[in-house]
Amino acid sequence: MQHNLVVFPCSLLLKLRGYPAIWRKIFWIAAAAIFAMANAAADTNYVHFQWKEVRDGVWFGVPQPNSFATTNAVIIALPGVGSMVVDSNYADFIAREIIEKAKQVAPGPVRYLINTHLHPDHVQGNEAFKKAFPQVEIIAHQRTCQGIPAKTVPRIKDRISPLRQELDAMRKRRIAIGENEKEAASALDRRMAGLELYLSEAKATVWVLPTSCLKMTTGQMKKITAGGRRMEIYYFGRGHTAGDLAVYLPVEKVLVAGDLWSEGGDMLLNNGIDGRDGSTLETAMTLRGVRKLDFDIALPGHREVIRGKASLDAAIMDDNKLVAQIRESYARGEPVDETLKKVVTPPNMGTAPWQRAVIRGYEEMELRHQLGLPER
Ligand SMILES: [Zn+2]
Repeated sequence: MQHNLVVFPCSLLLKLRGYPAIWRKIFWIAAAAIFAMANAAADTNYVHFQWKEVRDGVWFGVPQPNSFATTNAVIIALPGVGSMVVDSNYADFIAREIIEKAKQVAPGPVRYLINTHLHPDHVQGNEAFKKAFPQVEIIAHQRTCQGIPAKTVPRIKDRISPLRQELDAMRKRRIAIGENEKEAASALDRRMAGLELYLSEAKATVWVLPTSCLKMTTGQMKKITAGGRRMEIYYFGRGHTAGDLAVYLPVEKVLVAGDLWSEGGDMLLNNGIDGRDGSTLETAMTLRGVRKLDFDIALPGHREVIRGKASLDAAIMDDNKLVAQIRESYARGEPVDETLKKVVTPPNMGTAPWQRAVIRGYEEMELRHQLGLPER
């Protein structure tokens, strides 16, 4: 953990000797206040994850309340070999926490690291894994390998300045919080501590790219057998991004799903995020491919463990409805901003991601039309 301790120069202390006691007292009170303020966040013992063992040797890390980021972590123990980790998360300090947990629950190196897709909260911690385990095999879809330098890196550069402004705004809010609002104060302290850690590291981020870029087409699978466990890495097609991988444990009936969907369903609608990485028109088809797997629980990239397939069915249905609406509007020649006024955001979903998905769907329709491809 990084500490930004304030150190008072000795020369200043020596100069104080000639001043009256009252001034020396005022100086020490002010110094103590500055010192406390400067180190308030640094002294917060920021621990990111709450871990649970969802199956024998399969660990699921969910961020504690008021964390800096919302992305989960998965460790699969491979006895006698080490472990497989799915997604390296958003920052070095979070990745190091995953590494420490992996060492504790699965002696040996992290042998495989899967990057499910190109979003920074799934790949930015790669460097920490490479440093700790130079031999680690980092596996991703080829589109993720291409997308990290082309999309992820420039986006993160653009985000640093808004995040600094957000931190400044948080600091102002923190000053405004009254002494008896302890809960609100500690929640904000925790979020500030995480953001400070992230910003202190982000400027020196070294982007480590996957070492194995899989040229998989829809429905293809790559099998890894290690430590007496069988792991199947699937590509189901375009959805949240163009290169989402999922890890399936057929014996344990566990699916590590990345951001393909999550309980509540709105994850799939983030396919329009930033550079329009995914597909609105193809999401339902991709998720129908996922549905064919026989899993009891799914571990999503965000939120809690998913049991059964009800939320997956809901996500498929939502996408089908949205695509039907887009198709109708597009066929009438209606401009996208008119359609955006009409579409109703389903309950429990954010309006902005839903609207981005509409825009993405329109773009895909337009592209297909220009290329003379069927609409699907
Ligand atoms: Zn994502």
